[in-house]
Amino acid sequence: MRNRTETASGLLAAVALVAGMAASGLAGQVDSKWGIHDVNRPRPPIITPGTASTQDQPGRPPSDAIVLFDGKDLSQWQTPKGEPAKWKVEDGYFEVVAGSGDIQTRQAFGDCQLHVEWAAPDPPRGKDQDRGNSGVYLMGLYEVQVLDSYNNETYADGQAAAVYGQYPPLVNAVRPPGQWQTHDIIFHGPRFAADGQLLRRARVTVVHNGVLVQDNVELSGPTAHKQRPPYRAHREKLPLLLQDHSHPVRYRNIWIRELGAASQ
Ligand code: MG
Repeated sequence: MRNRTETASGLLAAVALVAGMAASGLAGQVDSKWGIHDVNRPRPPIITPGTASTQDQPGRPPSDAIVLFDGKDLSQWQTPKGEPAKWKVEDGYFEVVAGSGDIQTRQAFGDCQLHVEWAAPDPPRGKDQDRGNSGVYLMGLYEVQVLDSYNNETYADGQAAAVYGQYPPLVNAVRPPGQWQTHDIIFHGPRFAADGQLLRRARVTVVHNGVLVQDNVELSGPTAHKQRPPYRAHREKLPLLLQDHSHPVRYRNIWIRELGAASQ
């Protein structure tokens, strides 16, 4: 027969288990304000979804997206110093002008869904990291790699759709140079306490050409070459940046949707 101490310790173990489940998210995140199938629960906003792109034609963004490039101009972009972006705009796309520097959005973003289309130079030139290299830097700090990884050997955590220096893509889903490719990115930025302490790491999911290649990975900190620097406290929103790595990589049809509190 169980004595009182055993019963109490069993109860404590159960409480600890439930607390642990809650802490780990296993208890679920259903909003307790609403009963199941409550007819008074607000309906989600209605939007018009976009259309898929083809090689010849960029698709249409969803109606609630912020369009960062619609094929016409770089008015949403500037240099990190705040000067007009110097990259070339042509025939519905823009292209890195080697040596002109990175460009970043005028607006700052944090948690988001981001759609970017890019094409590596055709014919290809160079090899390894010196071939069709650019990059999408979430918050200007966390790079999802853009690289011509087609028949091009390089280190795994530096090929296309890698979280640079941290996570190789799950598969190499790259298309040949010259073809349009898509990076669809779900990003949750890090959170910091008022004293700068890290509360939550950044997380990213990447779908490259329709294929899941980063599955909600947790970043060790900002991305960098040959190092993994620790997090340093920053704001919840910072500009999105595209990298000038001296290669004429092209971009088109870039749009972003900010994610609210319901998508933490
Ligand atoms: Mg890069």
